[in-house]
Parts: sequence; structure tokens; C-alpha cells
Amino acid sequence: MIDMETLVSLCKRRGFVFPSSEIYGGMQAIYDYGHYGTLLKNNIRDAWWKDMVQYRDDVVGLDSAIFMHPTTWVASGHVGGFNDPQIDCRKCKNRFRADHILEGFGINADKAPLDEINAHLDRLRKEKKLKCRECGSPDLTAARIFSLMVKSNIGSPTDELKEENAVYLRPETCGGIYLEYKNTIDALHCKLPFGIAQVGKAFRNEIVARQFIFRTREFEQMEMQYFLHPDSMNKAYDMWKDTRWKWYREYGISEDEIRWYKHEKLAHYASEAYDVEYRFKALGEYKEVEGIHARGDWDLSQHSKHSGVDLSYFDEKTGERFIPHIAETSVGLNRLVLMFIDHAYTEEQAPTAGGKEETRVVLKFDKRLAPVKVAVLPLSKKEELQKPARDIWNTLKRLFIVEYDETQSIGKRYRRQDEIGTPYCVTVDFDSLEDNAVTVRDRDTMAQERIAIRELEAFFKEKYAM
Ligand code: ATP
Repeated sequence: MIDMETLVSLCKRRGFVFPSSEIYGGMQAIYDYGHYGTLLKNNIRDAWWKDMVQYRDDVVGLDSAIFMHPTTWVASGHVGGFNDPQIDCRKCKNRFRADHILEGFGINADKAPLDEINAHLDRLRKEKKLKCRECGSPDLTAARIFSLMVKSNIGSPTDELKEENAVYLRPETCGGIYLEYKNTIDALHCKLPFGIAQVGKAFRNEIVARQFIFRTREFEQMEMQYFLHPDSMNKAYDMWKDTRWKWYREYGISEDEIRWYKHEKLAHYASEAYDVEYRFKALGEYKEVEGIHARGDWDLSQHSKHSGVDLSYFDEKTGERFIPHIAETSVGLNRLVLMFIDHAYTEEQAPTAGGKEETRVVLKFDKRLAPVKVAVLPLSKKEELQKPARDIWNTLKRLFIVEYDETQSIGKRYRRQDEIGTPYCVTVDFDSLEDNAVTVRDRDTMAQERIAIRELEAFFKEKYAM
């Protein structure tokens, strides 16, 4: 069994994820990505982009700015409406999400009004069931509304954060897609149905941000908005559910590790909402990783109304003019990093060089997602081995990320590569000087095979389907 602590410590020790600003004492719920974390995150992002944009002729890309005109968030309902109910412990000063506390009692209060939440809390208080999760004290405040919007004063002449000067850091990336919907159609002549996809940062002043990179205040989303005629919503919605489900399966997540969660309480404009939930080994439960929503014509209607710009679509074939409806897929990139690490984490018993057994930690990533594709390891630091090993590294590095490592014993180097999930290690030994061949070790089976140096490039091209 693994727990979150194991993953957090592996991520730090091996350079995947670091707590931000650690030398100044850290910042809650903000994280930095080290070398391997960055490579893994980029690979996940590329795998999404390939499937959502590159392999399709009905989705185009976008990279919109984080800052947008302040009216954007009034039109979308976020200003004044993007809140979570917060509750504080008067004793230990910890802060919780009231809907999460109710969830612990089997009460679904997702999107419920504050009155309803407080009524549930009062009842639990009377029944003496309401206690602080951290310190056990019954002295908890009533639930209050807490805005998730993060403010900035960009462009304002004073350093004061006055309400009228406030601009917001986007709480979701799709806002930029709605604002660039018209420019995209005008420039690229897209015909319905079509989608716009983008990957970028989003910011939310989350009340409780624990569980490592699962919920943070700065994170990345990968979102796609599919614009369509309302009559084609059902078909398109099913197509996107199917497409996204297959993507998880394609990258090694099995049928029993993911499931659909159907939202019963919907936002007033939505007609359907499902989440993909993944069963995190380190959390021991299913948690949302992605949302797929049928959003009606709410977004474009609102931006049309607030901007005064006509965002309707004219269908030349039918002569019909209407505001397109939207099917959305929205997934957190950082949450997927955690999902794939959680999924890949394996502990096995393996023989040591001395004939004993030891626990081997391996991240069994899908090869395409692995941060480093091949490690080149000369058996010793002797110059005669360094030269051919460097030559191999120089050849392979043009194909993908390859690491050259000559420190420590070969056993330790294998363990290190296992822990960062490198699918293949190439070892250059003294026999290599005679037979011009190297040993290639497979991460998962630990099987070793001898491959001629001149065939290495073709060997890995085949392994990586290049
Ligand atoms: P929750 O109910 O967990 O707060 P949400 O339903 O508000 O999340 P959405 O607004 O639908 O989430 O966002 C879509 C996706 O973005 C989520 O499925 C998740 O993967 C990711 N996401 C949302 N908030 C965060 C966050 N604070 N940190 C990391 N990822 C997030």
C-alpha cells in the first residue's frame, strides 16, 4: 500500500515536485516542478494535445492571456458567484469546506445555497456530531461564503487594490476561448461543429488546499470547448465522453481504476455533467480528475450581452442564425501528473548484486509519458568507456530525452532510473570495446539483451513507434 507521504517524498527526492518558496518557509498549496516533473507534465500535455488537436480536423488551438477584461468574469457569473462555503475551527484555526464536511456525513451539498448548508450543519451540531476534523473541537463557526477569485492590480496607477481597479487572474482557462471564439471563426473559417482547445494556468483561492498537487491555488487546465447546433448536443456529448474515456485507457489506466460520476445538481445553464473519477491508490478513494459538461448557450449569450458584440452563428446551408451551444471537456494537468505517478508507483522484491532481496521502487509510466526515454550508463568512469557511451548519448539525444550518468555503482544507477521511470538503460561495459554491442535493460522485466551499437537508434525508434 502506498500513501500520499510516500509520493510526496519520492517527488521531492527525485526532482519531480518541490514545495514552492521552501527557503522562505514555503507557501501553502503552491508547488514547483523540477526537471522530471516538468518533463512528465510536458509529455502528458502533449499526449492530450495530440488527441484533442493534432489528430482531429474539427478542433483548433489557442493560447489566451491569463488577464482578461474584468467584465469577462461579471458576464460569466464568477464575480459574486464563484464561491465555496467556508467553516473555521475556533480552537485550532483550521479552515474547511463546509460542503466537504457534509459529504463526510453522506450529505451532497455541492452547489447548495448557504441557508441549506447551515441548516444541515445546525442539525449535526445539535446531534453533537459536528467536530473539527483536525483537533476534534465542537467549536466551529457557521458556514460563510468565500470567493475563489484571485485579484490583481495590474495596470492600476496606485498600489492599492481598490475594487474598481481589480482585475482577476483567470479561475478557468475557458474564458479566453469564449472571448476568442469570434476571432477564431473569422480567421480560420471554422464551420460548426468545431472546438477550440487550450492549456494554461488558472488560479483559485481554494479554502482548503491539501492533498499535495491534487488541489492547489495555482494550477494548469487543459480545456476544450466544442461549439455546436443544439440539435447535435446529445451526439457530440456522447462522442466526447467516449473520446476522453479512451484517452485514459490508451495511456494504461484500466477500466476498474476510472469511473463516471453523474452530477445530479447542475448549474442552471447546464443540461448534463459527468466527471471522470480515478481511484487514487495514495488516497484510497475515487476523486475527480476531469469534467465533461453540456453548457447550453449560456457562455456566448452572456458575453454577447455584456460586450454588445453579436456572437451568433449563421449557418449558410440552412439559413439559420443562432448562438452555438457548447460541450466542454476540462481536465487539470497537475491532477493528471498526480494520477499518472500514483498509477505508475510500484514496489517489488528484486534480487541485489549480492544475491539478497530488496524492495525496488519503480514508476511504471507508459513509455510515451516517461520523463526520460533512455539512460546511457558506462559501467565505470574509465575513459575508454566514457567515449563510446558519450557517442551513444550524442546520437540518441536527437530523438528524445536521454540521460547520461556515470556516477555511483551500476546497481544504484539502475534503481535511480527505476524511480524516475526510465523504460530503458543502456550499459556500456568492457565487452563493448570488443563486440561493439551494449546491454539494454528493460525497466519492467529487468531483462537484459545485447544490442549492436549501430542498431541502437533503429531499436529505440521501433520501441517508441517513431
Ligand atoms: P472541485 O469540485 O474539486 O473544486 P471543480 O468541479 O470546481 O473542482 P472544475 O471547475 O470543473 O473543477 O475544473 C475542471 C478540472 O480542473 C478539475 O476536474 C480538476 O482536474 C482541475 N482543477 C480544478 N480546481 C483545481 C485545483 N484547485 N487544483 C488543481 N486542479 C484543479
